[in-house]
Amino acid sequence: MKTIKIGHLYPKLLNIYGDIGNIITLQKRCRWRGINVIVDEIGVGESITNHDIYFIGGGQDIQQIEVSKELQKHKEFLTSERDRGAVFLGICGGYQLMGHYYQPHNGDKLEGISLLDAYTVAGNKRFIGNVTVQINQITPNTLVGFENHSGLTYLQGDTKPIGNVIVGNGNNGADKTEGARYKNVFGTYLHGSFLPKNPHFADYLLELALGEKLEPLDDFIETKTHNNLVKKAY
Ligand code: GLN
Repeated sequence: MKTIKIGHLYPKLLNIYGDIGNIITLQKRCRWRGINVIVDEIGVGESITNHDIYFIGGGQDIQQIEVSKELQKHKEFLTSERDRGAVFLGICGGYQLMGHYYQPHNGDKLEGISLLDAYTVAGNKRFIGNVTVQINQITPNTLVGFENHSGLTYLQGDTKPIGNVIVGNGNNGADKTEGARYKNVFGTYLHGSFLPKNPHFADYLLELALGEKLEPLDDFIETKTHNNLVKKAY
């Protein structure tokens, strides 16, 4: 039996708006296919060993301070994990720390670990509402979720957006992009939680992690839910 190892980074600090649903979705979609899943919760002060997928959720600036400090100790290891092709998914506050830095309104700049060539600066407005994103690489070619952030994220170099917002603000509200990808590292502002509402994206991540195509599941209910949320008003 195949086994997939998921490292859940700092779940006690960064886990907001049901971000844990992302882990549950990855677990269930593997188990429904007979793939064994191990989820390791990694806390502050703990070491990190190899995993196929790393997940980091969102949170408030206050929790991001501690996580920013802790992540620096693992920057080298996580960079080597990225470079060997491990899959990363960061949501909102976690996404911000996968870039170079997050500069909050008040206080010091929070260093990220530069897995993505991106930086984030707090804006004057908080973006709160439903989001629909147009994507190219997979079908259905939409992502849906809920955003709540004041950070404005800007991408550079080879780090590319996951898609373009049709509804909502996404990365910064100005360039209409949402999320980021470099190698197999993905960041997004979409809570909701993200993967239960976008099972096609969950499978995309699992296929990248396993290096093979997966058998489709009966996603009748999931697809109906997804479709009901496409273009939902902000
Ligand atoms: N503190 C960040 C912001 O408001 C992240 C928020 C979040 O993770 N929901 O931009």
